[in-house]
Amino acid sequence: MILGPLAQENLMRLTLNVANATDLTTRRNSAIPRGIATATPFFASRAENAEVWDIDGRRFIDFAGGIGVLGTGHRHPRVMAAVAQQLGRYTHTAFQVMAYEPYIELAERLNAIAPFEGRAKTLLLTTGAEAVENAVKIARIATRRNAVIAFTGAFHGRTTMTLAMTGKLTPYKRGLHSLGHDVYRVPFPVEYRGVSVEAALQALEALFHSDVDPSDVAAIAIEPVQGEGGFHVAPPEFLRRLRSICDAHGILLIADEVQSGFGRTGRMFAIQHSGVQPDLVTLAKALAGGFPLSAVIGRAAIMDKCEPGALGGTYGGSPIGCAAALAVLNVIADEKLLVRAEQIGTRIRMKIAALTQRDDIVSIGNVRGEGAMLGFDILARDTKRPDGAIARKVTQRALDEGLIILTCGAEGETLRILVPLTIENSVLDDGLHILERALEL
Ligand code: PMP
Repeated sequence: MILGPLAQENLMRLTLNVANATDLTTRRNSAIPRGIATATPFFASRAENAEVWDIDGRRFIDFAGGIGVLGTGHRHPRVMAAVAQQLGRYTHTAFQVMAYEPYIELAERLNAIAPFEGRAKTLLLTTGAEAVENAVKIARIATRRNAVIAFTGAFHGRTTMTLAMTGKLTPYKRGLHSLGHDVYRVPFPVEYRGVSVEAALQALEALFHSDVDPSDVAAIAIEPVQGEGGFHVAPPEFLRRLRSICDAHGILLIADEVQSGFGRTGRMFAIQHSGVQPDLVTLAKALAGGFPLSAVIGRAAIMDKCEPGALGGTYGGSPIGCAAALAVLNVIADEKLLVRAEQIGTRIRMKIAALTQRDDIVSIGNVRGEGAMLGFDILARDTKRPDGAIARKVTQRALDEGLIILTCGAEGETLRILVPLTIENSVLDDGLHILERALEL
């Protein structure tokens, strides 16, 4: 008798006595704090490129990509092979105890593609928040200043410094009464929501008069395309003006490319679309194709301002993560994923454009993004205002039909697409078809 994949899965679970979803939900709720929320009620069993199966054999098309981590898809064979090879050599020495070549080689390769002219140096860490923390720390040490400027809607992480920089109270900062940390906030320009580039720049000027002298500011940190905040693209003109303000006052410009980086927008770094050169860049997520690794790439003179011992971390630049990231770089080049990001973006935009024409489905609009980093708003039918409650219904329906898609924005009103850049056209089209059905509410 030949068993189908679902029957095989069930047989395996019975033989191995693997827990079912109800048990796991109970165990999860009793063992794990409420504070970590999960977008879906399912439990992963296996995954391949842009598809993931749960323990009940249900198949999902993955438009979330582990929140933008899986630029090269789940378990890319070349990433798996590189990691397997590294596992056979050593898994951890702590770079501070005994250095190793994969860290050095990865730093060399990231320095070679740094989005600024002149010499670069790279520090490797583990998470996105850790990269942002270190970029700020390096900027503070290099400038001997303390203040940091961040934007409304920014997301830089969940550690206390990065939370202070994050521009969203609920759910991230509730209950933390005084984050302090010398962080000042300026509106992120989003023209269609009524914040022009000029208005944002005026707010920055006003801040320099009312609250902080520019000569006390170490860094301005910006996401070239906001991630959690709503997939808003920083206007190139705004980035250029920020660059000249930074130059005029000796402030360092940090591009947080944790979500927008590593090929997703059709360039290795989203800031390259603007031609603006930052001083420090943070990377994580897609950098290592599913393994925990992050980086700060910066101008060599700035990076070298920290004393030996000032930078690091036990797991920072794990050999496994480095091996994976080196393979990811090869895959991006060999599979021409930057071109592919543009193609995916065009394909999705065409579909969304067609959907915006239909008046028999949920209203959508404000399509935006770069390359394959695309988002659009779910709008209330009558007022045409972005509506988080309807967006939640749409993502729930998509999930019921087998598509994982995340929201973002102040009220979760924006659907964001973070598909693996290696997704097959047929799977992408299937996913977009499910999305269409989910909008037929
Ligand atoms: N910066 C940006 C732009 C992000 O999108 C994120 C994560 N969503 C972070 C920083 C924090 O990364 P991590 O969750 O790995 O700490």
